[in-house]
Amino acid sequence: MINLEALVQNAVTIGISGHTNPDGDSVGACLGLSNYLKKKYPDKRVTVFMENPGEKFAYLQGYDSITTPDKELYTEFEFDIFFALDSGDAMRLGSAHKFLVDARETVCIDHHISNTGFARHIFIDPGASSTSELIYEIMSHDFIDEEIAKCLYTGIIHDTGVLRYSNTSPKTLRTVAELISYGFDFSRIIEDTFYKKTYVQNQILGRAVLESILILDGRCIFSAVDHRTMDFYGVTPEDMDGIVTQLKCTAGVECAILMYEREPMVYKVSMRSDEKVDVAKIAAWFGGGGHKRAAGFTMTGTVHDIINNVSKYVEKELDG
Ligand code: 5GP
Ligand code: MN
Repeated sequence: MINLEALVQNAVTIGISGHTNPDGDSVGACLGLSNYLKKKYPDKRVTVFMENPGEKFAYLQGYDSITTPDKELYTEFEFDIFFALDSGDAMRLGSAHKFLVDARETVCIDHHISNTGFARHIFIDPGASSTSELIYEIMSHDFIDEEIAKCLYTGIIHDTGVLRYSNTSPKTLRTVAELISYGFDFSRIIEDTFYKKTYVQNQILGRAVLESILILDGRCIFSAVDHRTMDFYGVTPEDMDGIVTQLKCTAGVECAILMYEREPMVYKVSMRSDEKVDVAKIAAWFGGGGHKRAAGFTMTGTVHDIINNVSKYVEKELDG
């Protein structure tokens, strides 16, 4: 646990960033923390950095003032204190990594089991559902308002698959109970940001499911989407969200793998599992990370190369 108040006390400039291709937890934790700090310390300058924050999160307070690499030059910023949120390793910060190197004080708040702690002050709890849940824990509750609550609620909802994954704890539910007492339209947040898909997102989901292949006696499923197909539908990496979870819904499947091509022959690999397979361990083996039941990494090669390599580890976990 860290003392947020003591950490920021003497800081004038505060930087906050999450991981690249930010998900709901990353956006929610960063904006929740920045809204809180701006409210409690109006004299401090708080800046949030993010690459491609999804437009579906535009309802969150502070979204419009997120600094993105295409809007402003990152080299112009320097911080007394920098917060790295929801990033399992320092490189996941993408272009915001430079702040971690340059800032006078650094803080890492995260819930990834693979996080080794890459800042001076660390608050890492792999037992927490989300970074947003941890941000709630370090805030003094007198300053939380409806807008801050919406940010943290969004983060928790996204990282728990709407409170259904096993990372949901009694504490998560107590936090959510307190957050929704601020009185916002939570069911709309769930519908609009978690379940709703654009037409092309549904099309690419359908295509990936249609072309999926069962291996290891039906206990593992994989699907691959190449760059040409992504271009054909006009989809971006953010549009691939949720596909691997849908693959994992297949009866009998204990591990699902989705690969999509980022650059020629460079695949982003996403893995999901049930109890048996520790995908964080497998992802770490290939230079990535994540959680026991949701993890990912990037790998160079053909789809066959990747599956040949990864399936061996999945099989070992299934039999182990
Ligand atoms: P997703 O498959 O949705 O991209 O990611 C699932 C989980 O694994 C997330 O918690 C995410 O932060 C983590 N993850 C995905 N890809 C990587 C990666 O390349 N490196 C690390 N360290 N973590 C990853
Ligand atoms: Mn998270």
